[in-house]
Amino acid sequence: MAGEPQDDCLFCKIVAGSIPATIVRETETTVAFRDINPQAPTHILVIPKAHYKNAAVLGAEAPQLAADVLAETQAVADEEKLESYRIVFNTGSGAGQTVWHAHAHVLGGRGMEWPPG
Ligand code: IMP
Repeated sequence: MAGEPQDDCLFCKIVAGSIPATIVRETETTVAFRDINPQAPTHILVIPKAHYKNAAVLGAEAPQLAADVLAETQAVADEEKLESYRIVFNTGSGAGQTVWHAHAHVLGGRGMEWPPG
């Protein structure tokens, strides 16, 4: 069923607490934790607790939850005192998605270039 935890999903395991993570914020519907391989001085992932394979599916099937994730990116940025930051949803392997549980990258603390690589 949509949103159900998946046994083989790393981020579902972080939500369940069976894999450790440096959690910085948690709400009823979301978790935010530090990326294990940071690409900026601040690199935090915000995920829905429920499992959706990417941001597109999350937005289509659970729009309120997608809004919760987006609101948490702002809360993370505020807590980290980021004046500017980048929110990235890699969607599909060609765009660099490697974990198939929707997640927003919040990146900040350094200058950013455009276009991204
Ligand atoms: P993606 O490539 O957009 O799917 O992002 C997945 C992110 O998850 C990458 O930036 C990884 O460094 C990160 N990651 C993978 N495993 C862990 C973990 O166990 N804890 C925290 N971050 C992780």
